[in-house]
Amino acid sequence: MNICEEVKDAGTIGISGHIRPDGDCVGSVMGLYLYLKKACPGARVEVFLEKPADIFSCIRSVQEIHTDFTTDIESFDVFFSLDTAKNRLGEAEKYFDGAKKKINIDHHISNKGCGDVNYIDSKASSTSELIYNGIDKAMLDEEIAKALYIGIIHDTGVFQYSNTAPSTLRAAAELTSYGFDFSKLIDETFYEKSYVQNQILGRALLESIMFMDGKCVVSMIDRKTMKFYRAVPQDLEGIVSQLRNTRGVECAIFMYQTDTLEYKVSLRSNGKVNVAEIASFFGGGGHVRAAGVTMPGTFYDIINNLSARIEIQLKESEKNVSRNS
Ligand code: AMP
Ligand code: MN
Repeated sequence: MNICEEVKDAGTIGISGHIRPDGDCVGSVMGLYLYLKKACPGARVEVFLEKPADIFSCIRSVQEIHTDFTTDIESFDVFFSLDTAKNRLGEAEKYFDGAKKKINIDHHISNKGCGDVNYIDSKASSTSELIYNGIDKAMLDEEIAKALYIGIIHDTGVFQYSNTAPSTLRAAAELTSYGFDFSKLIDETFYEKSYVQNQILGRALLESIMFMDGKCVVSMIDRKTMKFYRAVPQDLEGIVSQLRNTRGVECAIFMYQTDTLEYKVSLRSNGKVNVAEIASFFGGGGHVRAAGVTMPGTFYDIINNLSARIEIQLKESEKNVSRNS
């Protein structure tokens, strides 16, 4: 995709990403925003997103995001949905629906494309890498590079996950040549945790339960505990990755309570279990090794429902192994 070609006649351009924005969502949205402001000086560009975590305040112009989702533009000439299909745009969905041209850029395998123009590549490490591919490299600068780099490191776990491809590393290498302090950026946006985040991580690990002969591990944080630590959902990021690091585990589940009988569930796999399929089955989505879904019921209802699906997949993968050996 050549992004400039797609927006060349637009007077108004809107950009948004998914609810509860993560690093790739913020990085791709802000990277595209900074790029379009520079590449299309005649257009009015507006960006809508829930307030990003404080760690992302190092990104240029992050304070220009319309976190209240208001604008006087009635219908955008072009509207971008990044890192998600339109169903998780939250309050920005109405701007996407009302736009003259809708563009969807994403790397989630569960997204079938919801725009007039779709650039969906489930093999890409991140939406930020797709934005990098779509921009005119002559327009790149330190601030755009930094935003896209943040997106890439967050969705690849700093180039650790299997979604890291040679093209990802080439893009990252090129981005680092713009001179920002990448080492500091990785530390401050990815590894550094607040005291509360570390405490609640410890609590979740301490209370985790192994099941299915040690192939699965689950942990949960309820509303009472979140209140006790004064934690917000963003403070829980990374817990599920730590659970997945348990030796022998094929599938890790972390959930936090969002209502009396509702939980936000994060699923991570070490390859044998396709968690995108499981999350999609219950109305969520994501990638083969990292997916999410919001589910109704008690903690035990949810575990029962999920483990039935995980078991089917583990049996399938065992069958495939014995067939191939
Ligand atoms: P999370 O467990 O929330 O960190 O999400 C893991 C991956 O799945 C991320 O790439 C999310 O964007 C995606 N994801 C999470 N929840 C959903 C959902 N309800 N629908 C579609 N994708 C999701
Ligand atoms: Mn992403």
